[in-house]
Amino acid sequence: MADWAFVALGSNLGDRRAHLAFARERLATLPGTNLVAASAIEETAPLGPVPQADYLNQMVLLRTDLAPRELLAQCAAIERSAGRQRTVRWGPRTLDLDIVRYDAAVIADADLVVPHPEIPRRPFWQRELAELMPYADAR
Ligand code: ADP
Ligand code: MG
Repeated sequence: MADWAFVALGSNLGDRRAHLAFARERLATLPGTNLVAASAIEETAPLGPVPQADYLNQMVLLRTDLAPRELLAQCAAIERSAGRQRTVRWGPRTLDLDIVRYDAAVIADADLVVPHPEIPRRPFWQRELAELMPYADAR
């Protein structure tokens, strides 16, 4: 039985729009996974201590047979394919994929926290979740 997953896409390096499109394409073709809906793309100022360019953000709703940890590993692989390099912590990135929610799962492991703890501090994630929620309710 497939579960719902909300995945946030972010890019602030290189061709941002192309990186988001690449991520949507790769997420949509993961094994046992459908991309059900994608939110509007929104530009936001960077958060955190590192000065850097503005981000393009988008959220997608997936229906997937992948377990949360499998989805996290796939997201990391997609980030790597987009040329992401981890040089500066919280620094600029070609592509950032975060699992914002995974069905009703509550996970608090060292490498995976779901629902994502930044939701309360990111109004754009809250807007994107609200935009996508009707598609998850319509099961
Ligand atoms: P951030 O997204 O916080 O700017 P990174 O993308 O570099 O930073 O992610 C750092 C680590 O966050 C990842 O290696 C991953 O294991 C961990 N992580 C914890 N919870 C999540 C989540 N819900 N979605 C994505 N990554 C997560
Ligand atoms: Mg991340």
